[in-house]
Amino acid sequence: MRSIRRALILFFAVPGAILANPWAEVPGPIKGPPRAIGETNNGCVSGAAALPTEGDGYLVMHLERKRYFGHPSLIRTIQTLGKRAHETIGVIQVGDLSQARGGPMPFGHRSHQTGLDADVWFNLDPGLYSNADGWRANIPAPSLLNRAGNGLDRRLWSTQHARLLKLTATIPEIDRVFVNAHIKRELCRTVRGDRSWLRKIRPWYGHHDHFHLRLTCPAESPECVRQPPLPAGDGCDSSLSWWFQKHPPGPTKPEPPKPPMPDACQVLLNGD
Ligand SMILES: [Zn+2]
Repeated sequence: MRSIRRALILFFAVPGAILANPWAEVPGPIKGPPRAIGETNNGCVSGAAALPTEGDGYLVMHLERKRYFGHPSLIRTIQTLGKRAHETIGVIQVGDLSQARGGPMPFGHRSHQTGLDADVWFNLDPGLYSNADGWRANIPAPSLLNRAGNGLDRRLWSTQHARLLKLTATIPEIDRVFVNAHIKRELCRTVRGDRSWLRKIRPWYGHHDHFHLRLTCPAESPECVRQPPLPAGDGCDSSLSWWFQKHPPGPTKPEPPKPPMPDACQVLLNGD
């Protein structure tokens, strides 16, 4: 009932009421032991923690979205990544994690629902840093692709980006990292020595102005649905070249009906 009331309030209070989404309006995380529940694109998180909006080696962007919550393991992971980055790269800009109780967002992502996903921007330009809220809400994340979108912008891409991706992929709790196929291809071509971490770097649509890191299901989260395991190898194979081939438009399949959210999520949404 409470959630219906919240949704109604939002419906009448916010222009563009189509965006109404009770998950974006919860008063805060549910307290208690942390649990990631369901799938990253159909789930929620209990006992989430908030990532402090700045810390050693990182700044959280778009504070106004209130998407700086996650499973405590995700919060620790970002803090670890910030510290590692600070030693060799600089300050990283952290985009969306999850809402206070996870769940679907009114805009921007299909995943990020279980407190195990986070975006990190590729912008590493120290000349741009400010911690002003207004700056963080308005600065665009620059794309690393060239204007035609058929390769990297060589003025922007640097070995620091490769270093940051390696720092990320070698954190044990991180299951996989999504980047644009052009970025994966660059790594495949240039990384020497230890290439084992490339396995975790997965090509995906978009992801040219940020990368997306996803944790494995944490311990003590029996309702967390694991992703299929990554294929063996560094991924610099036909699965990568697929992204650069022309694909004839296939028959358009209707979207399969969305499965209902786990019952535990509905309980969590309505809890205090
Ligand atoms: Zn993401």
